[in-house]
Amino acid sequence: MTRMKVLSLLLLLYVAVSSAFPVAPEEDDEGKNINLVETYLQNFYNLQKDHRPHLRQGGKNHLAEKLKEMQEFFGLQVTGKPDRDTLEMMNKPRCGVPDVEQYVFTAGNPKWKKTNLTYRIVNYTRKMRQTDVDEAIQKALNVWSSVTPLTFQKIEDKIADIMISFAYRDHNDNSPFDGPDGLLAHAFQPGEGLGGDVHMDEEETWTKDGRGYNLFIVVAHELGHSLGLSHSNDPGALMYPNYAYTDPKEFRLPQDDIDGIQAIYGPSNDAVQPTGPTTPQACDPNLTFDAITTLRGEMIFFKGRYMLRKHPERSETELNFISLFWPNLPSGIQAAYENIERDEVLLFKGNGIRNSLFFLTSSFHNLCKLFDAVFQKDGYVYFFHKTTQFQFDPRTKRIVNQMKSISWFNC
Ligand SMILES: [Zn+2]
Ligand SMILES: [Zn+2]
Repeated sequence: MTRMKVLSLLLLLYVAVSSAFPVAPEEDDEGKNINLVETYLQNFYNLQKDHRPHLRQGGKNHLAEKLKEMQEFFGLQVTGKPDRDTLEMMNKPRCGVPDVEQYVFTAGNPKWKKTNLTYRIVNYTRKMRQTDVDEAIQKALNVWSSVTPLTFQKIEDKIADIMISFAYRDHNDNSPFDGPDGLLAHAFQPGEGLGGDVHMDEEETWTKDGRGYNLFIVVAHELGHSLGLSHSNDPGALMYPNYAYTDPKEFRLPQDDIDGIQAIYGPSNDAVQPTGPTTPQACDPNLTFDAITTLRGEMIFFKGRYMLRKHPERSETELNFISLFWPNLPSGIQAAYENIERDEVLLFKGNGIRNSLFFLTSSFHNLCKLFDAVFQKDGYVYFFHKTTQFQFDPRTKRIVNQMKSISWFNC
């Protein structure tokens, strides 16, 4: 190993070593949870407010039905009960637009009847420099204009199709904001008056980077509503209801969103149609991995900007953004390794990678060159080559089994 490579390896270790892997929160007292569940379902799943306590029983069943709807949307186990995973999901910062249609929205699929739209930045947040706000909004508009025939023209006064503003708490549209975290923003579908408008919660810490909430990411999502899109249950989609940070410099509009917006406005006028990343699905037989590691009893499979987590006691595979746990880490991890004694996980990306891996599993020099991912579990070493994996017994130095790469998931 050259000195250069050792250095790059060390650099990566310092970035990646993290003991901050999330541990599920302690269960709160039940009353607080019921409140959270009711408010969440009222806000996003059209649960009617219970004005008739003597009909409580019927109300509760209705609540269970709405809860199932919510669990279905987020790909959680559909129990109708506010279990840990469900409460965890409800506590995530998100968009204020409901996941199911509400009576306040007109029926059908509203769209703008013209392609040349106007927008106006009504006021600015005090959290960012004005030029940075302008830049973030411009970039968010480009996300949509680059995949459709739509154009956006900025105006400085009068009424624009899309009015963008920062607002506190109750701001006279029947959808008050809630202070820091929780609801981040909302927007109205195409139409007159409030139609197309974007409201940002001024009490959030808006930023141009990975701290607080990234303004570009949230505005880009809200503009999707302004143009007629509703929420997507694809966890990788921009139109997924929950906030997920992506480095604006690395952002590419996912295919799910491209398909959605082009279904409304048709393809872009460019000769070559843009395409976007798709979200990995645990049971896709063609799925391959960038890196795999064990971590505190779980298995973590890295793929692009995602990680799939498989807990031995849970049947589902959980899909998360890598950035959710390690905000400063780039996507496309090339190797991962758990040091159980030090309770650390080492993640690698860079040119020194193959050598780094050799360094860690020095007895498998030649094998490593052939494989996408390698990990150790229960005394065996598993080598992944595209959609196939090999179970290797280091004691007998033999391959003892050959399986599909996705065999760890319950497919
Ligand atoms: Zn939304
Ligand atoms: Zn509003």
